Amino acid sequence: MMITTHNLGFPRIGAKRELKFALEAYWKGQSSLEDLKQVGKSLRQGNWALQSNLDLVPVGDFAFYDQVLDMSFTLGNLPARVQDFHGDPLDNYFRVARGRSAQAGEDHVQCCGGVAAGEMTKWFDTNYHYIVPEFTAKTQFKLDATRLLEQLAEAKAQPIKAKPVIIGPVTYLAIGKAKDDSDRLALLPQLLNVYTELLETLAAQGVEWVQIDEPILVTELDAQWQHAFNLAYHQLKSSRVKLLVATYFGQLADNQYLAANLPVAGLHVDAINARSEIVPLINQLPAHKVLSIGVINGRNIWKTDLNATLDWLEPIAERLGERLWLAPSCSLLHVPVDLDSEVKLESEIKSWLAFAKQKLEELQVLATALNHGRDAVKVALAVNQAAVDARRSSKRVHNPQVKAALQTLTPQLGQRQSAYQHRASKQAALLQLPQYPTTTIGSFPQTAEIRQARRQFKAGEIDHAAYQAAMKAEIERSVREQEALGLDVLVHGEAERNDMVEYFGEQLEGYAFSQFGWVQSYGSRCVKPPILFGDISRPKAMTVEWIKYAQSLTNKPMKGMLTGPVTILNWSFVRDDQPRAVSCYQVALAIREEVLDLEKAGIRVIQIDEAALREGLPLRKSQWKEYLNWAVESFRITANGVQDETQIHTHMCYSEFNDIIASIAEMDADVITIETSRSDMELLDAFDHFKYPNEIGPGVYDIHSPNIPTQAHIVQLMQKAAERIPAERLWVNPDCGLKTRQWTEVLPALSNMVAAAKTLRAA
Ligand code: GLN
Ligand code: ZN
Repeated sequence: MMITTHNLGFPRIGAKRELKFALEAYWKGQSSLEDLKQVGKSLRQGNWALQSNLDLVPVGDFAFYDQVLDMSFTLGNLPARVQDFHGDPLDNYFRVARGRSAQAGEDHVQCCGGVAAGEMTKWFDTNYHYIVPEFTAKTQFKLDATRLLEQLAEAKAQPIKAKPVIIGPVTYLAIGKAKDDSDRLALLPQLLNVYTELLETLAAQGVEWVQIDEPILVTELDAQWQHAFNLAYHQLKSSRVKLLVATYFGQLADNQYLAANLPVAGLHVDAINARSEIVPLINQLPAHKVLSIGVINGRNIWKTDLNATLDWLEPIAERLGERLWLAPSCSLLHVPVDLDSEVKLESEIKSWLAFAKQKLEELQVLATALNHGRDAVKVALAVNQAAVDARRSSKRVHNPQVKAALQTLTPQLGQRQSAYQHRASKQAALLQLPQYPTTTIGSFPQTAEIRQARRQFKAGEIDHAAYQAAMKAEIERSVREQEALGLDVLVHGEAERNDMVEYFGEQLEGYAFSQFGWVQSYGSRCVKPPILFGDISRPKAMTVEWIKYAQSLTNKPMKGMLTGPVTILNWSFVRDDQPRAVSCYQVALAIREEVLDLEKAGIRVIQIDEAALREGLPLRKSQWKEYLNWAVESFRITANGVQDETQIHTHMCYSEFNDIIASIAEMDADVITIETSRSDMELLDAFDHFKYPNEIGPGVYDIHSPNIPTQAHIVQLMQKAAERIPAERLWVNPDCGLKTRQWTEVLPALSNMVAAAKTLRAA
């Protein structure tokens, strides 16, 4: 028996983020388009070389910015505003990706001048963001296969068998937006003609298999969208290439019958997230079809338990024979490239991990064991088993005290002493704030000096005392500026924090950090998620000294500033040996100790940021409730152990609350600050309709832009807010933290904000 191995996609950013640096150099005008294209080419070649053991290697998964935007260009679906461009198509592509402001004296101003960027949104439940395809009733598709054909030609020069990867027509429509509210599905027949042409073009190149990604199949689909699937694949089945429809990130659930019976040659399913569906699916699968099983987790960084996987796979392989293909669960885009780059990671922890390159090696071991018996890979299996066993029993992972603490969780732990109304009056008496109190979200500009001091400290060029002194000087500077501005509730400015999750991860027991564990977030942007590997505990206070120092500089209330457990969890690589909820509760207990220590130190206002709470929502609405239950409970455990007099704030960097407002209310923070400035306060409607009972600070200053909001504009926004929320419960603040701004922008903006609050009070 011979089973087929393949991969759905490889990270394109490069093991050392080569693509990031090449893109940014090009955008800054420091290198040529030719240089950039050359970097792309060598990354593709390197990636194919790493995958050359596979039977089928993905081609077309490389994108300079985003694979969805690539697909839009392949389908000729360019927004009208960029259709007249005269330069290199790649430049036009970047215009859609990033937007571009018009430049004075430019030729071609009408056709090639400034344009707005395409909207960006989350790719399913990952931290990757794609450029949303734009449609109107008039959208015309037109094939441009240049990019794919070029990559295919390159691949032909390599000793690999290429499998082009494209996004499927139904997913493509489903993840896009009709700008005129027209029916996207009305575009399907026309779109299918272009897909037919594309598949023919690939067939003419001698392509045998095409991977056509339809992850929308793991979400809830109504009858119309299910029908679209049948329509689409009945048309595409006449193509000369074989289609492998790829689903990933979740269960097929109600779509299982539909997926199994699409008239295509093969189906890929995610056996990490939908393990229990595989055997029933095999029972439904027509006997001619290939089933590709995603057995290696493409979303985390842990070694696979290969023997356990084989125990499960062997009977399946027996049944499917050559119809069985093996792959990672999804594209490896969502994991870092190469664990071998990590030379500083503790060897014990490192031995438990696998990045993209190592995951493909695991795949190879599994395939060999299935094809030739486990004995053929005895050593590899033994090494893997030893690592898996070591992790399972490691004292680094398991802390009996933490586990015991988790046993004692009670609903009381997350319960404030009194209801909001009662505590609000106690807090008001203590804090003596004016109406429309002003505050900021936490960070002040991370200046070049701050970054330099951190760099020098890390490199051992300055000692701990010198670093502390530099940070204290920055804190003092922000406090003085805030006092001069006349803000009511101050912050220390977060100078000492590199990142709102990493800062806490570094001080918590149970976290590890990689050096090169970068994952693409969007375009050239990457994140390096910390690795939550063990039971979480807090050896000592993490923020108290800094906040105490900041408070000592002023008589105004100083906010204690913490990142909440749900955000810490959602922005980390987390354990796969216990439910996410358990890890989250552990973090919650650790941060709760910090909250109580801040309170003990005399801090009267404590903000707990939950910037990523919404991001963690499962793909299927039917699973939201379960997530929200433990997420909200984690926040409550963290925040609500304080006295009535202590005011708890939370902050969330978005404003879509319609569907989760009841959960937000259950968190029971005294004050929530959100991002609303760009939505003209309309997004406050959710709070209004629900009669959200506590205080709200709707952002009045778009911190993503260097523009300085005027006093009049802020007054106007707040008046709109006051139409929805009673003025006594409104705060005045920016949308988010100010760390990416310059002081020269921040000072006039905040000065206008404070002036606006005064105007509102006088009215
Ligand atoms: N307190 C953080 C800051 O001001 C919040 C950042 C965020 O919500 N993303 O930077
Ligand atoms: Zn924010």
